[in-house]
Amino acid sequence: MNLNIAELVEVSRFYGKDKSFVIAGGGNTSFKDGQHIWIKASGVALETIDENGFVCLSREKLKVASSRIYSQDAVQREAEVKSDLTNAIVSTGNNRPSVETSLHEIIDYQYVVHTHPTKVNAVMCSINGESVCNELFGDQSLFIPYTDPGYILFKKVEAEIARFTSKNGRVPQIIFLQNHGVFVASNSIEEIHQLYSAIIEKINRKILTPLPESDPKLFSSRITESIQKLHPSFATFAAIGLESELIHHFIKNPNSFCKADTAFTPDDIVYCKAHYLLMTLQGTEPEQIKSASKQIANYFETYRNLPKVLAIERQGVIGIEENIKSVLTVLEVFTNILKVSYLSENFGGPKFMTASQIEFIDNWEVENYRRKMAKS
Ligand SMILES: [Zn+2]
Repeated sequence: MNLNIAELVEVSRFYGKDKSFVIAGGGNTSFKDGQHIWIKASGVALETIDENGFVCLSREKLKVASSRIYSQDAVQREAEVKSDLTNAIVSTGNNRPSVETSLHEIIDYQYVVHTHPTKVNAVMCSINGESVCNELFGDQSLFIPYTDPGYILFKKVEAEIARFTSKNGRVPQIIFLQNHGVFVASNSIEEIHQLYSAIIEKINRKILTPLPESDPKLFSSRITESIQKLHPSFATFAAIGLESELIHHFIKNPNSFCKADTAFTPDDIVYCKAHYLLMTLQGTEPEQIKSASKQIANYFETYRNLPKVLAIERQGVIGIEENIKSVLTVLEVFTNILKVSYLSENFGGPKFMTASQIEFIDNWEVENYRRKMAKS
């Protein structure tokens, strides 16, 4: 194996196995030389990636694509972009390159490691995110306000990198994306590690209220046991309930839950959907089960899909999905939402995605592909 690719595999696994940097299929990494870029394939987890988990593309063909004029229609445009991306593939196999390939291509350093660290997102998903970023990192980094992913985000980042480069005389090595995560770039892996450590250390100094430390415990109730009966579509589904000090902080009442009832990032939507249901249950057990079914039916009426996260007031949180593996992913991603929300209080409080930003992700074919891959 090429030495650079061996290093790429190593750095990918290093951040991939650290849950405070990467959850589920999130994040991606790349290496480029003069002619080619090797980028993580879509749906492959960084934690266990090997050289076959990367797709090699021609940089020349990617450059041609990035200067093309695409359709004005969003769906048509993303299809054209996807086809150009496919045409640039040099390696064999069925792997599809990460949707963030073009972003990696324009960051002019050999290694790019993109992750969604919990602490970075506590800043990126907060009211004061941009000003905190400027205060902590100044012109060491570039801050990109939330932009719909895909071609529009690519063009935005491209323009901002050009502006930064002409102002500072160098390409930025740290690019923060609001409600998303961070890209860290360097020609050496060692510097990638240094930059990440410096980012986390600076944010740590600003965190005056740290996360509660207690570990989550399994939580079981009549509702978790009867979950398959709560909606016809849940009949074959798996469910797991959790509780912890962090969870209890949010499920006290509807007021506390509104700090965690929707998505911060596109990945939250990919794995947990965009809305989480807090149920208040009273009365006898049969009454509670009846009330839970009704609240789930109402959720379906409103959002046209079923909840993956159910919270029961003052009891715990339940993840519901097709199989145990997917349930664990849902709980992992939702727990991260709670952490981001909790820590965001150090930076002015949570800033969620807006309804139109959520709608864009819901309709995005690329994300549906990732959802499918995550379940297989
Ligand atoms: Zn990302």
